[in-house]
Amino acid sequence: VKIYPEAKEASTRSDEPGNVWGFSDSGFERTAAGHVTLQGTRYALAGKALPDLWPFFLEHVGETLGGELPKPETPAVTLPRVAHPELERRLGELLGDGNVSVDSAARVRCGHGHTLDEVHALRHGGLRRIPDVVASPQSEDEVVEVVRLARELGACLVPYGGGTNVTHALLCPENETRCIIALSTRRMNRVRWIDPENRLAEIEAGAVGRHIVETLGRYGLVLGHEPDSIEFSTLGGWIATNASGMKKNRYGNIEEIVVDLRAVGSDGVISHVSALPRESIGTDVRRLFFGSEGNFGIITSAVVRVAKKPAVQQYGSFVFPDFQTGVAFLKALSADQTLPASVRLVDNLQFRLGQALKPKPSAIGRQLRTLQKTWLTLVKRFDLEQISACTIVYEGDEAEVNAQRARVTDLALDTGGIDGGAENGERGYQLTFGIAYLRDFALRHGVLAESMETTVPWTKILDVTQAVRRRVIALHQELGLPGRAFISCRISQLYSSGVCIYFYLAIDGRDLPDPCGSYAKLEHEARRAILENGGALSHHHGIGQIRKDYLPQILSEAALSWRQRTKTALDPEGVFGVGNQGLRSTRRG
Ligand SMILES: Cc1cc2nc3c(=O)[nH]c(=O)nc-3n(C[C@H](O)[C@H](O)[C@H](O)COP(=O)(O)OP(=O)(O)OC[C@H]3O[C@@H](n4cnc5c(N)ncnc54)[C@H](O)[C@@H]3O)c2cc1C
Repeated sequence: VKIYPEAKEASTRSDEPGNVWGFSDSGFERTAAGHVTLQGTRYALAGKALPDLWPFFLEHVGETLGGELPKPETPAVTLPRVAHPELERRLGELLGDGNVSVDSAARVRCGHGHTLDEVHALRHGGLRRIPDVVASPQSEDEVVEVVRLARELGACLVPYGGGTNVTHALLCPENETRCIIALSTRRMNRVRWIDPENRLAEIEAGAVGRHIVETLGRYGLVLGHEPDSIEFSTLGGWIATNASGMKKNRYGNIEEIVVDLRAVGSDGVISHVSALPRESIGTDVRRLFFGSEGNFGIITSAVVRVAKKPAVQQYGSFVFPDFQTGVAFLKALSADQTLPASVRLVDNLQFRLGQALKPKPSAIGRQLRTLQKTWLTLVKRFDLEQISACTIVYEGDEAEVNAQRARVTDLALDTGGIDGGAENGERGYQLTFGIAYLRDFALRHGVLAESMETTVPWTKILDVTQAVRRRVIALHQELGLPGRAFISCRISQLYSSGVCIYFYLAIDGRDLPDPCGSYAKLEHEARRAILENGGALSHHHGIGQIRKDYLPQILSEAALSWRQRTKTALDPEGVFGVGNQGLRSTRRG
C-alpha cells in the first residue's frame, strides 16, 4: 500500500541565506577574546569557544593574518538584463505572477554556485551575467509549457536546484544575448508517494536533501544518499551532477539509488512506464541525465530506492602512525565483505585541523588530553606531525553492526592502528556540516580556500597525494605568494579498485592583485598533478564550465564528437543549459 506524505511548502527554503554558504543563523565569528565560535544552535560545535582554531590558521596559512577585512565597497553594478516583456507576461499567466521574478536578488542567487571565485565575485561585485528571469513551475506540465515558451520566443533555460554546485555549472555566458530563464525547481519539492513494500519512493526533482530525510524518516525509511551538501542540494541536482554521498558503501551512489526518472526535453516528456529493479531494454535514454548538468532537459522527478532506517548507528575512529599505514588499513578493509556505511581517512594536517576545532576543554579534560598525547607519543611512539586518523559510521541491525565493528577493529589493530573511540568518530562527522562554513569565515579574513576531489586506483594513492602536495607547495614558492600553502587531503569513499580523495587548498590572498587568479594557478597545478599521476578529472563534482577544457585530455576525439552531436541532435536550438562541458548547440555556434 502506497503512502502519500503531506506536501511541503516551498517556503521551507526561507531559512537559507542565498549567497554565502549555510543557514542565515549559523557561521563562524571571532569573539572579542580572539577565540573563534560557530554561531547559532544547529550544530554540535555551535556556541563553543575554539581557542586553537585561529592559531592554527596563523601557523598553517600566514602568521601575519589579522582581523576581518572590511566588507568591500561594491560598486552599484547594473548587471545587464535582457528583458523580454512578452515572455515574462506569458510566464506570469502560466505560473502565476508570484512565481516569475525579475528581482535582482533572486536572479543573482540562481546565477552562481559555491566555488571560491563565485563566492569571491559575489563579495566583490564581480558577476558579469546572471539569469534575466526566474521561473518556478510546480508541475511537470508547467515545465513542459515553460520549455515550449522558451523555444517559441527564443529564450534559453538553466535548471536551478539548490545552487550548491562547485563547477561554475550555473554561471551564465557573458555573450548570451537571448533572455536566460533560470528554471527553479524549488516548488517541485514533494515526496509524492512511498511504497514501503517494494522499498521505493517517487520524489520531485526540487526536493532538498534535508527535507527528503525528514519526510522518509517519518515512515522509518532512509534514502541513504548523504552528500555533505545534503542540507541544501536537491534530488535533480544530484542526478544532473552524478553525485556521491558519504554512505555510498551501504546505499550506493546516486546512479544506483535512482531506478527511474522523468524529464522534459526540448520535444516533450522523457519517461518509461514502470520503475523496475533492472531492465535490459537497449539504450536507456534516462541514463543521459546522469551528469547532464542541465544540457539535455529538466529532470522533474525520480523513483528512488529507499531502505529501512537502520536500527543501530554507531561511530568509530582509529589513529594510525602515518597516512600510508592508514591507506594500508583501508585497502585491507575494502578487500573485506564488511564495509561500514562510511569510512574516511584524513592526513596529518587535517587531523590537526580537527584537533584545532575542539572546544576549550575543562581542567580535567585538559589533563586527559595531555595524558592521551603522552601515551601516543611516549608509549606508542607515534609522531604527532605524521599521524592520520580514520572515522567510521556503522549502520545496520545490532548483530550486523557488532560483527562489522569487531572485524574492522581487528583489521585496524593488525595494520598498526589504535582505537580512537566512538566519540572522536562522531565528532569527525559532526564537523562535516560545521566545516562547510569555514570557507566563508576564511574569506572574510582574506584567506582563499576550496576543496577539489578525484578518484584514483589503490596503486596511485600515494603518487597522487604526494605529487599534489609537492607541486602546490613548489608553485606557491615560485609565484612568491605570501604565507604558506595549506594543502591537505582526505579519503572519503572506498571502492574495490580505489578511493575518492578530497584535497583542501588554502592561501593567504590579502595582498594579491588577483587573488582568485593566483589561487586558480595552484588549483590548476594540483589538477595537472592528479591527471598526470593517474587520477580522475572528477569523482562526483562534475565538469560544469570549470573543468571543460580538460576533457580532451581524458576523452578520444570520437567520444568528444559523440557528446557534441548528441547535444546538437537533442537540443538543436540550444534551449538548455549554459554550455556546461563545452557543449553547444548549432545555433549558439
Ligand atoms: C559544502 C559543499 C559540500 C558538498 N558535498 C558534496 C558531496 O558530498 N557529494 C557530492 O556529490 N557533491 C557535493 N557538493 C557539490 C554539490 O552539492 C552537488 O554537485 C549537488 O549535486 C548539486 O545539487 P544542487 O541541487 O545544488 O544543484 P545546482 O547547483 O542547482 O545545479 C547543478 C547542476 O545541475 C543542473 N540541475 C539542477 N537541477 C536540475 C534538474 N532538475 N534537471 C536538470 N538539471 C538540473 C543545473 O543546471 C547545474 O548544471 C558539495 C558542495 C558544497 C558547496
